[in-house]
Amino acid sequence: MKIIAAKWLFDGENIQRDTAVAFDEKIAEIGTFEILETRYPDAEILRLDDKSVLLPGLINPHVHLEFGANTTHLKYGDFMTWLQSVIAHRDELIDACHAACYRRQIQEMLETGTTTFGAVSSYGKELTACRAAPQRVIFFNEAIGSQPAAVDALYSDFMQRLEESEKAASDRFIPAVALHAPYSVHPVLIKKILHETPQKPLSAHFLESPAEKEWLQEGRGPFKYFFESYLGQSTPLCHPEAFLNLLEGRKTLLTHAVQAGEREFDLIASAGHAITHCPRSNRLLGCGRLPIEGVKKRKILWLLGTDGLSSNRSLSLWDEMRAALMLHHQAPLNLFAADLLRAVTSRAADALDLPVGRLKPGCFADLVTVSLPDAPDNEKSVATQLVLHTEKIDRLYIQGTQHV
Ligand SMILES: [Zn+2]
Repeated sequence: MKIIAAKWLFDGENIQRDTAVAFDEKIAEIGTFEILETRYPDAEILRLDDKSVLLPGLINPHVHLEFGANTTHLKYGDFMTWLQSVIAHRDELIDACHAACYRRQIQEMLETGTTTFGAVSSYGKELTACRAAPQRVIFFNEAIGSQPAAVDALYSDFMQRLEESEKAASDRFIPAVALHAPYSVHPVLIKKILHETPQKPLSAHFLESPAEKEWLQEGRGPFKYFFESYLGQSTPLCHPEAFLNLLEGRKTLLTHAVQAGEREFDLIASAGHAITHCPRSNRLLGCGRLPIEGVKKRKILWLLGTDGLSSNRSLSLWDEMRAALMLHHQAPLNLFAADLLRAVTSRAADALDLPVGRLKPGCFADLVTVSLPDAPDNEKSVATQLVLHTEKIDRLYIQGTQHV
């Protein structure tokens, strides 16, 4: 048993003072240090100083490790221009990312406090690195392909990758399913996959760019030119609402939803889907700002993801929280900072149905400690100060084992 006593602690919901946590693989108890010390006399004890904060390990539900070699290759500012640059550089970028490139990204997430990540995988190349990662991994095997003639081949390739990932399944490695987007996966393929994988966690990009919205809702715009010239396809595969109907009965992590309107948010709320918000990716690809007020008003679970290095400059959730804090300038600062901490801990755990993200008895002991430059003088500002100042974490535990 280990005990960490902290002057400041974020339990996944709120900031607390002078609290200690006793844990081995799971959290055994939360209470005052004096009580826990008496109850567990043989425990290894760590007393943090007044500048330090103990909190649950962070959860990044959406990252693409396969594009980790990108630095200056891709064009930013507009989604379609970016997409064309991804197509132009895809082979080069995928070939450039080998074991060391995956390890570097996993290490960056570890050093910035991410104890669980969702890896969206198009080809399965990063499977070995993810299996070896110290973190808990949700391995989202991604389906993509819009041509009806290719559905059977795409389905069999998808199932092969899913089965390969199933061989590694454990409580720390969770095989899962991703549907690339409503414009890029044929509805027949979606139905076959969902029918075959009823229990698997599910993720999908959804209404990311203005071009996607225009194409799906009105069948025109730059995506029309794209689909006509690359794939000989002149009408969209399905309306956004029809796509949500396909997901009926499956709580899904919808990534982006920046261009969703009132109607789509109502449907997302009533279906119990979550939204993974990636503000830096949205900014770089010219997609707009997620209207977070509408998301919060409907009590939709919203999480924070970094997306991949194809549309970001780091995989740090602290960098992502800082961007979100500045982007949503209308939100009350301290309350929103605390809400961002919930997005990367307890809310993400709820959306993924994982027993982590809270400092609560019974949860896995996925914990991090961080240091502020100076001791805060009241609990109201701790969340804001954490978001503003944290670069790397001091210590990191996954299921009670220290990795940093
Ligand atoms: Zn993505």
